[in-house]
Amino acid sequence: MPAKKVCIVGSGNWGSAIAKIIGHNVRASNRFDPVVNMWVYEEMIDGRKLTEIINTEHENVKYLPNHKLPANVVAIPELVDAVKGAKVLVFVVPHQFIAKLCDQMKNHLGEGTIGISLIKGISEGPDGLKLVSDIIREKLELDVSVLMGANIANEVAEEKFCESTIGARNEANGQIFKELLQTPNFRITVVMDSDTVELCGALKNIVAVAAGFSDGFGLGDNTKAAVIRLGMMEMVAFARLFLGESVCSETFLESCGVADLITTCYGGRNRRVAEAFVKTSKSITELEAEMLNGQKLQGPQTSADVYNVLQKKDMVNKFPLFAAVYQICFEGRLAKEIITCLQNHPEHM
Ligand code: NAD
Ligand code: 13P
Repeated sequence: MPAKKVCIVGSGNWGSAIAKIIGHNVRASNRFDPVVNMWVYEEMIDGRKLTEIINTEHENVKYLPNHKLPANVVAIPELVDAVKGAKVLVFVVPHQFIAKLCDQMKNHLGEGTIGISLIKGISEGPDGLKLVSDIIREKLELDVSVLMGANIANEVAEEKFCESTIGARNEANGQIFKELLQTPNFRITVVMDSDTVELCGALKNIVAVAAGFSDGFGLGDNTKAAVIRLGMMEMVAFARLFLGESVCSETFLESCGVADLITTCYGGRNRRVAEAFVKTSKSITELEAEMLNGQKLQGPQTSADVYNVLQKKDMVNKFPLFAAVYQICFEGRLAKEIITCLQNHPEHM
């Protein structure tokens, strides 16, 4: 069987960290072509194109500085050129960009192409909730797996030990992605409960914003543990509401569930920006621009997407933590009301 060409669609903080792993793994396997394409949203850095910097210095100096990428990862600015001939697509862009990118690559993919989404977010469809993987499936007609886990990109790039979860609908494809992505310090479990895995990855970012508010008020570890626990309860309830009987409780015990929730509530960007929101009174948009150097926050936008979906179902009051995050970020509700929200949570009634 001919070696499969891999294209990474995205090159931010996580996209670059995963490119390090993929570039290394394809060299050690006969299954994959040894040259990996990486689509890069082109920008100028000190008068030079980012793609040119990556292809000569083998470093994404803006989104993953101080880490060398393998030389077989080739940065390409045109999306259609990047996906040409690729049989394996790794989607890793902030969720707000995925639909437009799929429209651009539609009609440029070959038969039998498969994909995996590393994107943590949801979208809203006419019938309510829409998963990012469903957008990709519908627009590109591919089998799509997902990879979600406790994977802060900088720590993965430093090759510190962690775990991750692949959610697959097609088990054989899930195993192909495990071969592409697993390393001695990046251990992967494949489960078939793909939609729950994906929802975990999206929803934990909302909880991380609440954890950041709690930190901003200096409330301490017990309060943050309560935010994490109540957040997990809302994640489970939301998954059951939208995915129904198919949700498997054990999935929340995988890296994509409890572990990602913990790491993001302690070490993630959403937590950090939410803490600054409380301490500075600047808007989330201002802080994102000031603090993240082009990286994008997913939590506030996901809280808005979730809030809209809940409103349509008249279920906002069943998810007070999710709702409070949205209202504090976007509707001027006082951040300190996160405490009122915890005190009155239906879990204790
Ligand atoms: P990022 O936030 O670091 O970077 C933003 C990226 O968006 C950059 O590559 C930038 O070039 C690109 N971009 C900016 N404007 C664009 C546009 N108009 N169209 C297309 N792209 C544009 O990105 P990331 O950290 O790689 O995040 C990608 C996904 O991975 C997100 O869903 C995130 O939740 C998830 N994730 C991130 C981490 C992490 O630690 N960073 C870990 C796990 C999962
Ligand atoms: P942040 O986007 O909050 O940094 O979270 C990263 C992440 O998803 C870790 O698994």
